[in-house]
This record gives sequence, structure tokens and C-alpha cells, in this order.
Amino acid sequence: MSERADDISISGIRHTYEATRTLARERSPHQDITLIENERFGRVLLLDGATQLTTADEFIYHEMLAHVPIFAHGDVQDVLIIGGGDCGLAEEVLKHKDIRRVVQVELDACVIDLSRRYLQEINSGVFDDERFQLHIRDGISFISGLDERFDLVLVDSTDPVGAASKLFSAGFYRSVRRCLRLRGVLVAQAGVPFVQPLEFTSTMRNLASVFKVTNSYLLASPGYFGGHLALGWASESLSPAASTLDVVRARHLSAALKLRYYTPEVAQAAFALPGYINELLEAATRD
Ligand code: SAM
Repeated sequence: MSERADDISISGIRHTYEATRTLARERSPHQDITLIENERFGRVLLLDGATQLTTADEFIYHEMLAHVPIFAHGDVQDVLIIGGGDCGLAEEVLKHKDIRRVVQVELDACVIDLSRRYLQEINSGVFDDERFQLHIRDGISFISGLDERFDLVLVDSTDPVGAASKLFSAGFYRSVRRCLRLRGVLVAQAGVPFVQPLEFTSTMRNLASVFKVTNSYLLASPGYFGGHLALGWASESLSPAASTLDVVRARHLSAALKLRYYTPEVAQAAFALPGYINELLEAATRD
């Protein structure tokens, strides 16, 4: 029987990748790590049976997590990434030449090592970029003692189980708020509302309990099973609509980045939530 890797991250559902090659199957001190090659999705990284990324569609998730807040903000200098072990997000952020520092806090050195070896097509520029600072630490403990300030914090972690669970808590979001500059923004992944409604509502409720301005935007990434993936936007002062479409277009034009999913129009439209997701969001943030 050919090799395979099962995504078992959504209860009651299992989807299987046929592996044309198994690149790594390891147990790190923190999680099971599987890296395979699949004819349709390219290289696929799974952690504890949950798809983290596929090289075929990671551009969708990483572009929307990075460029929506960066182009909306307009003057991001210092970025903090929590998680992001494949370093695809760091590569996306570092495309912005006027960003002076990207600090990344990743729990598991094994994910970094395997990503450096097998995922160079999505992270090759990162490790030689002198603006990139990598810490192998738990994001919770790292941020609790932090006295630096950032313009943007991106939480690119595994789902809210185990070591990642506290990264979705109000306590962690309070620590993030303390590290954000005026107009600073936090963006955190908030699950696939159709198949993970509780992950979505509890993340958005916790964000709304800490920040004055919260919102959610969507992306459609084939590798994330179950429909749109939601990202949570949180800030003390910056609304995603604060910069007009024309202003965002001008910033996007002058940045002259080669992007394959993000456009200023897609970014604006991403905040238009379908009825069922809006209902979940309103219920979560009503009280
Ligand atoms: N894009 C993926 C997603 O949306 O599911 C996430 C990719 S990245 C591989 C997720 C990373 O979060 C993993 O490398 C994992 O080790 C890291 N992580 C989990 N809990 C963490 C914590 N408490 N502190 C820092 N990193 C953590």
C-alpha cells in the first residue's frame, strides 16, 4: 500500500493524503511531525495529524495573514510572529523592505529544522535576512516578560489544543495588547467557522474582551478543510477600514510585491462575512 498521511484534526472527519514520498515522520518533545509529498498539494506539513501547510496553497494563508494588516496600517516597522515554524509567514513579512525587524517565537526547534531542510521553496530568504530574529520558546512565557513594542503581532500557531491552547486566551491577548504600539494590530487565526464554530467564537470573544476594535476576515485555502478560514483582527485603535481602498492601493503599488492571492480589493472584500459567520461573530462579541 502506498504511503499516506491522515488529517484527523476535525472530529468525525478524516482526510488522507496519498504520499508519493515521505520526507519525515518524527516525534519531537512537543508533537508528531509528518512531512510528505503529494502529487496535488506538493509538500504537506502535518503536526499531530493537523495540516499546517501545503506548498501548493500556503501563499493564500501567508499573504492574507501578512499583507492585510501591513497595507492597512501603512507604517509597520516591528513585527512579532508567535509560532510560524515553517517560516513561510516570516518570508512574506520580510518582503516589505521598510520593515526593520521580524521577531519570531517558535516552540519547536524540530519544526524549524525540518522546514529549513524541506520547505526552502517557501522560506529560503528568511534565515539570511539580518532583520529576522528567531527564539525557540513558548510564546506565552516569551510575551509575559516582554518590554518591547511592536506594530504588528501575528499568531500563526497550531489549533487551540496542548501548548497552543493558551495562545487563544484573553490573558495572552492582554499580554499582546501591552506589547502593541499605538495603532498596533494583532491578527490571530480563528479556525474554520463551518467545522470549528466554537474555536471561531471563543477566539473572537476573547479578542473582543480585550481589544476595543475587533473584526474578522476570511480566506479560502484548499488545504484547510471545511470552508473559509477566519482570521481575527484586534487593535486598540486601528480599524481595518481606517485606510481607504485608494490609499491601500497606493501602498500596494509602491511596495511592488509579486503576490498571488492578496490584492487591495480582495483584502477589502475579505471582511464581508457570510450570514452564518456574521451570526457567530455577533453572538460571540455581543456580551
Ligand atoms: N499555518 C498553520 C495553521 O494555521 O495551522 C500554522 C503553522 S506553524 C507550523 C504552527 C506552529 O505553532 C508550530 O510550529 C508549533 O510548534 C507552534 N506553536 C504551537 N504552540 C506554540 C506556543 N505555545 N508557542 C510558540 N509556538 C507554538
